[in-house]
Amino acid sequence: RQEQYRQLRDRPSRTKDGQDIKLLLNAGLLVDLAQVSDAGAAGIGLFRTELQFMVSATFPRMRDQRELYRSVIDAAGELPVTFRSLDIGGDKMLPYIATGHEENPALGWRAIRMALDRPALLRTQIRALLHAAAGRQLRLMFPMLTEVAEFDRARDLVENERQHLLRHGHEIPHEVLLGTMIEVPSVLWQLDELVAKVDFLSVGSNDLLQFMYAADRTNSRVAGRFDELAPAPLRALRTVVEAADLGGVPLTLCGEMAGRPISAMALLGIGFRAISMAPSAMGPVKAMILSLDLQKLQDWLLPELAMPRQSLREDLVAFARDHDVQL
Ligand code: PEP
Ligand code: MG
Repeated sequence: RQEQYRQLRDRPSRTKDGQDIKLLLNAGLLVDLAQVSDAGAAGIGLFRTELQFMVSATFPRMRDQRELYRSVIDAAGELPVTFRSLDIGGDKMLPYIATGHEENPALGWRAIRMALDRPALLRTQIRALLHAAAGRQLRLMFPMLTEVAEFDRARDLVENERQHLLRHGHEIPHEVLLGTMIEVPSVLWQLDELVAKVDFLSVGSNDLLQFMYAADRTNSRVAGRFDELAPAPLRALRTVVEAADLGGVPLTLCGEMAGRPISAMALLGIGFRAISMAPSAMGPVKAMILSLDLQKLQDWLLPELAMPRQSLREDLVAFARDHDVQL
């Protein structure tokens, strides 16, 4: 199969009935970047900036951050890179940032919450990103957004830094696109307001599922207990697609779901046209896409979504079998 996947690399990522699907990569370190061209990806859909912080014994300086980001942008060449601002806290702790004891770290002081409380941290990172993307496009998204006001504050920080660099005669990106992740269920009821403000959205289904199902993603007793192909998450994801389409905002999903061919198939069926995944998932997901009649799937799946049932998994597997979709 490895050989088969390698041969798929240069084929366009297009379904059997001619619909183009954007396949993006999740990355976090320089070593991941060799994979961008290898895997035939359309870009980096999620660059997890916290990894540099996690492998470092002290806070990475602005210079070090800038160098990493620049190398990432260089390695991607013409392809877009979506950086995610620091997603620290929860299951990703840093020894040199004291968070104090937390009873429920997943629900605690983390990600954009920490960044807005410690703006110097975020400002440094933003400055490093603006420098690194000078003369090019910068795409940046914020993790764990819970209310729209957090996006406003983060966007103001970016704008202030941009103005600051301009005033001091630095070259800055020719375009700055700002987005957020959809990882906290509260955002599902603020989609209209959010869509009016952001340049793009990306669903973090790992966290969104954890919070929807109240099931700790790191606890093996409960992590796999509830099905990501059940009506509840699929309906929630469908409302995200509808809101993004209505507002004309580009949408991606970058959780692990995107890398499982059966789940990726379901995502396309409910309307996603861009998904971001680990490099190793690209081959299997592409094989699924090339063998899929997406219109047929969509015509069947969307009405099914409204029907009461525990999970759509078996029916999705049956659809794939009956229509020769490679899973
Ligand atoms: C997610 O939550 O789905 C996600 C992509 O972010 P992370 O796995 O880094 O929390
Ligand atoms: Mg997450």
